Amino acid sequence: MDIDKIRSEFPILARKLYNRPLVYLDNTATSQTPDIVVNEIVRDYTTTKANVHRGVHTLSQEATDLQETARVRIKEWINARSTSEVIFTRGTTESLNLVASSFGGMMLNEGDELILTVMEHHANIVPWQLLRDRIGFSIKVVTINHRGELDLDAYRSMFNERTKLVSVCHASNVLGTINPVKAMIAEAHSHGVPVVIDGAQATPHFRIDVQDLDADFYAFSAHKMYGPTGVGVLYGKEKWLEKMPPYQGGGEMIESVSFEKTTFAELPYKFEAGTPDFIGISALSKAIDFLQRTGIENIAAHEHKLLEYTTRRMLDEIPDVRIFGEASDKCAIISFLVGNIHHYDMGMLLDKLGVAVRTGHHCAQPLMTHFGMEGVARASFAVYNTFEECDAFLDALKRVTAILQ
Ligand code: PLP
Repeated sequence: MDIDKIRSEFPILARKLYNRPLVYLDNTATSQTPDIVVNEIVRDYTTTKANVHRGVHTLSQEATDLQETARVRIKEWINARSTSEVIFTRGTTESLNLVASSFGGMMLNEGDELILTVMEHHANIVPWQLLRDRIGFSIKVVTINHRGELDLDAYRSMFNERTKLVSVCHASNVLGTINPVKAMIAEAHSHGVPVVIDGAQATPHFRIDVQDLDADFYAFSAHKMYGPTGVGVLYGKEKWLEKMPPYQGGGEMIESVSFEKTTFAELPYKFEAGTPDFIGISALSKAIDFLQRTGIENIAAHEHKLLEYTTRRMLDEIPDVRIFGEASDKCAIISFLVGNIHHYDMGMLLDKLGVAVRTGHHCAQPLMTHFGMEGVARASFAVYNTFEECDAFLDALKRVTAILQ
């Protein structure tokens, strides 16, 4: 891959911070956006802005076509069986809230059990807790070993006749661990239990085949995979979506409305109340074009080299560094602490040296509690990062630790 050429597609990477070149290593939180995506947004706003589905006029037809073409693109990218199974949302968080509220509300009763894992993002914890507080089921939590890998024996032993649902992340946003979700889904299905996958951290790095995984639901966000903010997808098996009640009510999701009775639109529109961000949706399909053109396997391979290089040098050259997450199958994420240095102090000084890393609990407080910590610093890589940037990060880290220790 020609990384310089790829970088030239991301104008933001030419920015300077405090007179230094920006080294953007907060890709797990959100990745940057290439020209092809930005141009689509500008083009649509300047030529094709209209409301979808409602109008017979040309612009409205074109807007509708853009959205539905994007739906076909996404259906093919994740290998869904039909476009009825691709629901547009505002992001992984909304996708998971939709599943919890609608599917969870249908499947879980008082006394039932739901399985989560200790490495979940709050987006895959809190929606279930809100439902639990209404219904009264219990939440079982799969723990991890010292490498940050799920305890699969514990997972297998959790199933009983009360288990009604599993919800698990494909990859952890803190540890980088890639979970063996295909095997976990097969195990759950052998007990007749459906599985929801939080794919927010997987879709930027590898191709998802929802049929091969046999996932019942798969949630992801555009902005983490080089797409726009405020757009996400919920894949769901049609057999479930057909049975589920709508999540939100309003325009677009109805067939007919009277004060006595409302009937709902067919899939996927039943779950898409209100005016969608069709421009963002169309821009997401351009992000997928970028992933395909660059080659998602090439992206993952490049990121992996950066991960290995930086991890090795950190362990060799930074005294008292602790890295959290050493799974054999891992995304390019390094969560770390150095000695007693507070992660905020570290992040703030790194920023002054032009290096953007994330600090804090990373919306994974139960995982922080598991490690007995309040927060960590996190460097995470994307396709446009370079070895020179890894060196700049390491140099900055040395300077910062020398000041703070
Ligand atoms: N799940 C995981 C694993 C994440 O990393 C994130 C975001 O960091 C989310 C869910 C929530 O994604 P969003 O904020 O795009 O809805």
